[in-house]
Amino acid sequence: MHYIRSMPALPFRTLAPWLRASFGRPIHRVALDAGSTCPNRDGSKGFGGCVYCDVEGSGTGALRDGVDLGHQLETGLARIQRRQRAGDPPLGAIAYFQSYTNTYVSTQRLVQTLDVVRPFLSRGIVAVSLATRPDCLPEEALDALSALGEHVPIWVELGLEVADDQRLIDIGRMHTVAEFFEAVERVHARGFLSVGHAILGLPGDGREGARATAQALAQAGCSGVKVHHLMVLKRTQLAARWKRGEVEVLEPETYVDWLADFVERLHPDQVLHRITGDAPLENRLAPHWQVHKSAVRELLSQELQARGTHQGSRVAPGVLPPPPLVLPKNLHHPQP
Ligand code: SF4
Repeated sequence: MHYIRSMPALPFRTLAPWLRASFGRPIHRVALDAGSTCPNRDGSKGFGGCVYCDVEGSGTGALRDGVDLGHQLETGLARIQRRQRAGDPPLGAIAYFQSYTNTYVSTQRLVQTLDVVRPFLSRGIVAVSLATRPDCLPEEALDALSALGEHVPIWVELGLEVADDQRLIDIGRMHTVAEFFEAVERVHARGFLSVGHAILGLPGDGREGARATAQALAQAGCSGVKVHHLMVLKRTQLAARWKRGEVEVLEPETYVDWLADFVERLHPDQVLHRITGDAPLENRLAPHWQVHKSAVRELLSQELQARGTHQGSRVAPGVLPPPPLVLPKNLHHPQP
């Protein structure tokens, strides 16, 4: 059976086809909570977190709810394997450490966390992805990741959000653009892939800001990019500002327009892991519109086609392609 469904070519690069091409099979994601915290909440860098971040730190909350990491992996893989159809190649999964700042733990704790993943490398985990902050990547953490990286590709997700130091101060990120660039460089030096995050429509950041952030992510050479529109969530600092009428959010048409600008300025080889936000409506104060990611993909495609442009058509001269995915020679080949 032919498992790669034919799709009309999009004028931008999305994750699922890239994963299929890279691993030779459909790849899904198992979101994990390793019980990390965040230096921007406990006072090491700041209190209260980034203005848009709710107290759950964008996490699954699984560990807090008593579900240990091994169990999270078992459950996630079982869920994915239920989708397996007879005759198709075995499905694979990315172990995705999503919640909070995953390298903001002792080296010993990080090693223990990564050790939980190891037995699953022969059971369908084909990559490990960790979300963290650009200012939370000590060499010891990179060493721990390198040890695991001998057996499985490692991706490090780093929040840039906006390529403007003043805006970063305004939104309470407590790191600089330069720190982001330095972190990406150190990630690449270890042979890992990097994924950069961006938010369009942050307070004080307009269309030009969206373009500049895309240029920065292209310049940094992030292999992957996650971008979404600003959402005002309950239990955030932004919520109070929004209630006072101090924060505006983007309408869907404006977002798609800015997103098209953004995508045009990326390198054509960068992979878009996400192009919209999906915070549940019950947690969200604004915007009230909810456009499914497939609809955003379609709207973006239409906008770029109407402009006669595509991803990378306005990339700055001299921007190099991101480093390619190199599969470790000790990579396990999971069986169904
Ligand atoms: S967005 Fe990330 S860095 Fe900012 S407060 Fe939330 S968990 Fe911490």
